[in-house]
Amino acid sequence: MNYPESIEKLIKAFSQLPSVGPKTAERYVFSLLHSPKEELLSLSENIKNLKDNIKNCSICNTFTEKDPCYICQDKRRDTKQICLVENTQDLWAIEETKQFSGKYFVLGKLIDPISNINPQDLPIKQFLNLIKNENITELIVALNFTIEGEGTTLYLKKYLPENVKVSRLAKGLPLGSDLEYADSLTLKNALKYRQDL
Ligand SMILES: [Zn+2]
Repeated sequence: MNYPESIEKLIKAFSQLPSVGPKTAERYVFSLLHSPKEELLSLSENIKNLKDNIKNCSICNTFTEKDPCYICQDKRRDTKQICLVENTQDLWAIEETKQFSGKYFVLGKLIDPISNINPQDLPIKQFLNLIKNENITELIVALNFTIEGEGTTLYLKKYLPENVKVSRLAKGLPLGSDLEYADSLTLKNALKYRQDL
């Protein structure tokens, strides 16, 4: 037996989100059914506006409402140091440690041949141009310690100018771990004791 179509459709939509199984999705939908209509309208309006209001920063590729993003616009930051992260959540995890005052670049995804994500699917050209044009002298690689993170790091290293000092977060982070879920202190130490590559 199935629920009415409108309920089923929404359960299916929520189930597509990360970490949401069918049972959780079902709970979300029934909770929404009990909410006032205005709340639902405001929620759907926020979802509708998400893609209109958020874009990628044309310099560092992070999600932002203003382009360039406020980190790229911040004149007080060290412009010679750049930290490479996979996504905007990782950027924020590092910002929260307050240990880094340079700029960032967000790759958006990692090279993953098994899922058919190849180097040309990543904004590598934009990244290498930034390194060259801004005369970056230090790159801190803050990609996850996964096969994809390692593979992407090795690939990028081949194309970096020789004068760029490259280091990587210390392996205080568990292998295969996701940066955005690391606690702030672990991340702080990983950044502090970063190792040359
Ligand atoms: Zn930016």
